[in-house]
Amino acid sequence: MPHLQIEGISKHFKSFSALKNINVSIPTGSLLCLLGPSGCGKTTLLRIIAGLETPDCGQVFLDSTNLLNLPPHKRDIGMVFQSHALFPHLNVSENIEYGLRIGGVSKFDRQQRVSELLELIQLPDAADKPISQLSGGEQQRVAVARALARRPTLFLLDEPTSALDANLRETMQIELRRLQQSLGITTIVVTHDQSEAMTISDLIAVMQQGTIEQFGTPLEIYENPSSEFVANFIGTMNFLNCSWKEGCAHFGNIRIRTGNQESSNIPDGSPVKVAIRPEKVVLADAESGNGNEPNRLRGEIEFIRNTGSLVEIHIACNSAKIIHVFSPQTGSDRLNVSEGDRVSAYLPPEHCLLYPE
Ligand code: ADP
Ligand code: MG
Repeated sequence: MPHLQIEGISKHFKSFSALKNINVSIPTGSLLCLLGPSGCGKTTLLRIIAGLETPDCGQVFLDSTNLLNLPPHKRDIGMVFQSHALFPHLNVSENIEYGLRIGGVSKFDRQQRVSELLELIQLPDAADKPISQLSGGEQQRVAVARALARRPTLFLLDEPTSALDANLRETMQIELRRLQQSLGITTIVVTHDQSEAMTISDLIAVMQQGTIEQFGTPLEIYENPSSEFVANFIGTMNFLNCSWKEGCAHFGNIRIRTGNQESSNIPDGSPVKVAIRPEKVVLADAESGNGNEPNRLRGEIEFIRNTGSLVEIHIACNSAKIIHVFSPQTGSDRLNVSEGDRVSAYLPPEHCLLYPE
């Protein structure tokens, strides 16, 4: 039985439809990321779950309780807002214990809980510090501790790392994930950052314009994006503009067979896109394969970048640019190449995804 179940949630702001019939369920202890571009409705959905916004229709169940019948403070939810909204005039421990104090918890119990939480967020000595003396990352951790103080059964975070710089963001993502797993708390994180979603999630709901475009595990979504939008949004993807002829995509006069093409029923002459991940491209000599072998493009290397852990090669193939990456350690490619070399890029059909326009 799912822990949190969202059924048929819709929300309008005047005539604008911010959420359209959202259905999601999350098992106990999992972390779901709501991932999508700015304005797609992520925060609105989170606020509806928290009780800060009322939906036009639909239900939200936590176990068998219908949350929509409860006021926000009775929903047993801890929330970290996008701007973490700590109280600047209170110190760290006063911020963390705020909800406990309002809830009438005794001073002794509050102090105990605060020191537990300070251990949990790895700031054991920060109790008496003013908020202004904390770094951005530390403030974010205090906001997390404050949200968890009352041991909520559901934990909601809105863009928890967006205010942090890149290095700190990654550290915070890992900390957040470890914390969430050690507590086993059912969690929803809103983010527009696909790498964050891939790092921390058990499940991802990719959202676009008020709808869920795809729901699945990070790997399912990475390996089998259900639409061009998702393919574009998650990770790096090569796209070829093709046209459909005689049951196959054609890039110019090269046939491109794709893994999922059986399911298609596309009229001849229609434009289609074929997508393939850079690490699935197979680089070979320009002379490899016969002249009109399907799925083999020929072109010239226009750019090579070696980041130490990854080599990235850009190949200009007529109107397309194909990006290929491999690890220099395990090196899928034995080829020793430089910019300006003519090569061929083989796109294995089983890794080619077809998206009708
Ligand atoms: P996201 O968090 O994905 O960036 P939001 O959920 O904040 O998106 O907003 C979704 C859409 O709803 C946006 O176009 C936003 O302008 C609109 N919206 C959000 N809240 C309100 C509101 N209170 N009144 C009017 N429009 C709103
Ligand atoms: Mg938002």
